[in-house]
Amino acid sequence: MRAEQPQAVHLADYRVPAFLIDHVDLRIELFEDCALVHSRLNIRRNPADESQARDLVLNGEELGLESLMLDGRPVENHRVDEGFLTVPSVPEHFHLDVTTRIHPRDNTRLEGLYQSSGMFCTQCEAEGFRRITYFLDRPDVMACYRTRIEADREAYPVLLANGNPVDWGELEDGRHQVTWEDPYPKPSYLFAMVAGDLVEKRDEFVTGSGRTIDLRMYVEARNEAKCEHALASLKKAMAWDEEVYGREYDLDIFMVVAVDDFNMGAMENKGLNIFNSSCVLASPETATDAAYDRIESIVAHEYFHNWSGNRVTCRDWFQLSLKEGFTVFRDNQFSADMGSPTVQRIDHVNMLRTAQFAEDAGPMAHPVRPDSYIEIANFYTLTVYEKGAEVVRMIHTLLGPDMFREGSDLYFARHDGQAVTTDDFVSAMEDASSRDLTQFRRWYGQAGTPELRVTDTFDAESGTYTLTIRQSCPATPGQSHKEPFHIPVRMGLIASDGEALPLDAEQNTETVLELTGDEHSFQFSGLAERPVPSLLRGFSAPVKLDYPWTRDQLMFLMSRDPDGFNRWDAGQKLAVDVILSIQQGRDTEVDPRPVEAYRTLLTTPGLDRAMVARMLALPSTAWLIELTDEADVAAIDGARHQVEQTVARALRDELVQVRADHHPGGSYAFEPGQVAARSLSNSALTLLTRIGDEQGREQALAQFEQATNMTDRLAALKALVDSPFSQEREDALARFHADWHHDPQVVEQWFAVQSGSPWIGNVNCVTELLAHPAFDWKNPNKVRMVIGVFAGRNLTHFHSPDGSGHRFLGEQIRRLDAFNPQISAQLAQPLTRWRQYAPHLRDSMAGILRELRDLPDLSRDLYEVVTKSLGESG
Ligand SMILES: [Zn+2]
Repeated sequence: MRAEQPQAVHLADYRVPAFLIDHVDLRIELFEDCALVHSRLNIRRNPADESQARDLVLNGEELGLESLMLDGRPVENHRVDEGFLTVPSVPEHFHLDVTTRIHPRDNTRLEGLYQSSGMFCTQCEAEGFRRITYFLDRPDVMACYRTRIEADREAYPVLLANGNPVDWGELEDGRHQVTWEDPYPKPSYLFAMVAGDLVEKRDEFVTGSGRTIDLRMYVEARNEAKCEHALASLKKAMAWDEEVYGREYDLDIFMVVAVDDFNMGAMENKGLNIFNSSCVLASPETATDAAYDRIESIVAHEYFHNWSGNRVTCRDWFQLSLKEGFTVFRDNQFSADMGSPTVQRIDHVNMLRTAQFAEDAGPMAHPVRPDSYIEIANFYTLTVYEKGAEVVRMIHTLLGPDMFREGSDLYFARHDGQAVTTDDFVSAMEDASSRDLTQFRRWYGQAGTPELRVTDTFDAESGTYTLTIRQSCPATPGQSHKEPFHIPVRMGLIASDGEALPLDAEQNTETVLELTGDEHSFQFSGLAERPVPSLLRGFSAPVKLDYPWTRDQLMFLMSRDPDGFNRWDAGQKLAVDVILSIQQGRDTEVDPRPVEAYRTLLTTPGLDRAMVARMLALPSTAWLIELTDEADVAAIDGARHQVEQTVARALRDELVQVRADHHPGGSYAFEPGQVAARSLSNSALTLLTRIGDEQGREQALAQFEQATNMTDRLAALKALVDSPFSQEREDALARFHADWHHDPQVVEQWFAVQSGSPWIGNVNCVTELLAHPAFDWKNPNKVRMVIGVFAGRNLTHFHSPDGSGHRFLGEQIRRLDAFNPQISAQLAQPLTRWRQYAPHLRDSMAGILRELRDLPDLSRDLYEVVTKSLGESG
């Protein structure tokens, strides 16, 4: 057992900083075995602080303090404790000169300054800067930085930091220096520097006001051909942010660097974004359509942070959603404008409902603005990001696009250069629109997914239809009682002939109902017959909605609902009902109605093919688990498999026809028409191989051999791997590896195809992958692709009834926690949902968590996840 337990930090304890730092002058000397960081801090007492503190307390972790001077004189009465440097009785204004020695090569946590494939790079969000030098490492201390980097010229010809380059030159012993100055005050978490032997790809962007911005991407030489898509995405994002939000870029230069070893996806450091290679590099031969799509949205996301995050930042880490929720909403809007808004919304909601709803229902549930944390790295969650974005989307729905834009303009104007709270964001929206969002603010403070129960009555005599909606929200840790939320429900009513019915005197056929109390009734009059309600269009609120639609009504909505999202959702509801009825023994045979609905979709000309592909996909096992108490994964999986086999066999001829009609030829382009066609054609291929169809097998083999792009090649590989064709599977896996073993990002995909396979991805398979020469424990992407994909997506084998999957995960977490706690804590997430499962799975998962808890040297990160999920700490 550990000697002392890590302490939680509470939002209620927030105090303004006792001191402010106006200017930071850094000189960083890089050597092979260490780095010397000389920092000069211009410090003054904070006039807003009432604590009268005389001592300056700076954060610092794993730093060797080499020298400390105050106004040019050595300091002798300082104290160095674990995590802090205290300088007693400091004056009102002073300079502090600090030199620290650090060891980037030994930094396996990948927080602060570290080495990745021979280059130096940084990751300072949330609390990495304190691993570089002593500092007031909190986001409400904003300073201007000047950064001089010195290193060997031959090994590190490229030296980058935030801002604009202002000075450079040769030094003695073959070394050189480059000095960067960032004129915009920023918190320390946005500091970045990079040193390496990198190639530069240049482009430029002319802003609305006519300034030419120098765009530069830095990658290792082997990745030189993979930059085009990211640069194109960046330019689109820059233009879009000017047009939709009126936000122009501010520095003269914008840089993007790709790094192989990175704990996160990407980081929005001011003027110097650092990306995980897998989230930025792409070529048609190595990246799928899905990767192209993801890169476009992540590049935009990080760029958008320049305003929503950097110019206006968070006061403290409880406000993380201030920048993340708003920026995810902005990147979702951007992606919707670049492609199909409905398909984009479907993909997003699908993820939200399976993964974020599970988080909300589990022991780690927390509000969008958490009240406390032990390790902030554990709160980069789907709740803060994705639910946070849904909350901003609801404000957008309630205010309408024009008022929302006025609100965001006011927010940026009012708080530029400040560190603020989610409350400040909502206040700006209120002040611009004159709407009262007092009750709406509960979305930030109350955890859990609200549930809406909808009932209706129709009075044929008066032609009045009444909808009654009741809201409730289950208890979550620390919050047993919930006040009602302010919920926008976008809806319409549909007549039996498919006509959209007018809802008011203005003949509108769609409206937004606003729920504020526990229960509301809404009346619609002048109707000739009982309508079919279409509720929560576009998923207008992150809630679970329960209305007793019949299967026939769902079939009707699948083809007639004017809202594309609800057409898809009706199909999902129908399929869920059919699958769970089989699993629970209410049906003995698969209802033929979904098959007929899919047949119509496949044979109706002119439909959006990307939509058809989404509609053909059965609800995931993860979503079915989320909808089931005491989930028995094997039984759910069995029922889902039975329905899938029935559908695919019944539609075999139509699927073959889809392959013939819709597969795009010619050269690859990432454009909506081609992406949709590949998506539909590859969905058909997957279904054909799943049923062991001979023609499907031949087509998969041919596509695997002949594909000129990774989307088709990987789809063919997956189809063969998840099929009964065992020899073809082995051959294809071997061939794919032989062709691509030199490319780490493609090898990551090769790992994931196996670790995520419901057919072959069992514990033996993933154990073998860990022993593969291409696997690297120190590389977070490889770890995620093998262990993370197995535990997070391959539910069939992870929840193997003998508990082997759970034990496997426990062993790997234990190993990883010794050197990269952020990753070990992330990987533990699937175990935290243990209460959702059937008793035999539940006991096995909780047993692994208890074993982890009892380890002697558990990291703070993992300690918080394990104890909270066992219900042992607040
Ligand atoms: Zn972000």
